[in-house]
Amino acid sequence: MQREIITYPNKRLFISSKRVENFDKDLHKLLDDMYETMIKGCGVGLASIQVNVPLRVFLANIPDENEEQKKEDLFEIINPELKILDDEKIVFNEGCLSIPGFFEDVERYKNVRLEYQDRFGKHKILETSDFLAVVIQHEFDHLNGHLFIEKLSYTKRKAFEKEFKKQQKEKRQRSLGEEAKKSKS
Ligand SMILES: [Zn+2]
Repeated sequence: MQREIITYPNKRLFISSKRVENFDKDLHKLLDDMYETMIKGCGVGLASIQVNVPLRVFLANIPDENEEQKKEDLFEIINPELKILDDEKIVFNEGCLSIPGFFEDVERYKNVRLEYQDRFGKHKILETSDFLAVVIQHEFDHLNGHLFIEKLSYTKRKAFEKEFKKQQKEKRQRSLGEEAKKSKS
């Protein structure tokens, strides 16, 4: 079942999520729903707080070399501990399903190591680089109530706020327009 994604500036996005204690069918349902929601939203990652469930759970699913996003490449990450492996950094153009329509370059670490649990509570280790490492850092931030726009420079952040206000205004006008249409018919 597809779930609703909460969007900026919803205050829930800024809370710190809690560890998963029960690896039960409710968790499996959440993971399955998150996968469906992420794919329908054309995302490469999704944290459970984005569907309004404050648990330390996220998905990462990057496309392969043929640009295909395969389910066999899906990582279901629960209760992760993130370790940065060295000082090397990379820049990727990031977006977020909770901040629709806004993309900006963000600098992050290139190489990371993740200790986490899978949907059955089994402990796992993942060492990775580049795009998957970036997605992991972006999603990991969600667990602690952080969004990628917090990493932008002052000028870029201001540009975002301006763009965001503009979008909100357009949305309001569109819905007012639809209301007007409805009342006419
Ligand atoms: Zn995000």
